[in-house]
Amino acid sequence: MLEPWNDLAAPDVAPITEDGRQMLGVRCTTCGRIDFPAVPFCRVCLTETTVSEALDPDGVLYAFTTIRTAAEPYMVGYVDLDNGLRAFGHIAGEAGIGTRMTLGGPGLPITFMASEKGDSQ
Ligand SMILES: [Zn+2]
Repeated sequence: MLEPWNDLAAPDVAPITEDGRQMLGVRCTTCGRIDFPAVPFCRVCLTETTVSEALDPDGVLYAFTTIRTAAEPYMVGYVDLDNGLRAFGHIAGEAGIGTRMTLGGPGLPITFMASEKGDSQ
């Protein structure tokens, strides 16, 4: 039976360290696949030989939408990370498709904000 997906608001998914907020994922020691959030087995080779790893939180905004049902509208979207993963989270501030993003905006743990590295286009 499949377990529920990780709670993205859980403190161990994106803990705050001295260097800021980290994306804590896993790397398979058999085939090298990385995954986020952490899963107990590799989705490629199905082994349980995964180790915890802090992942690069930088990427490019792939898609987003604005949720207007709340009292204060907010944005959510997918960020294509430089490490090859696509992560879902809140989007803070001004951003559009292709904007360089990094983890660490205000609010919930998985919040991306425009990176100071500038747009990728
Ligand atoms: Zn693997």
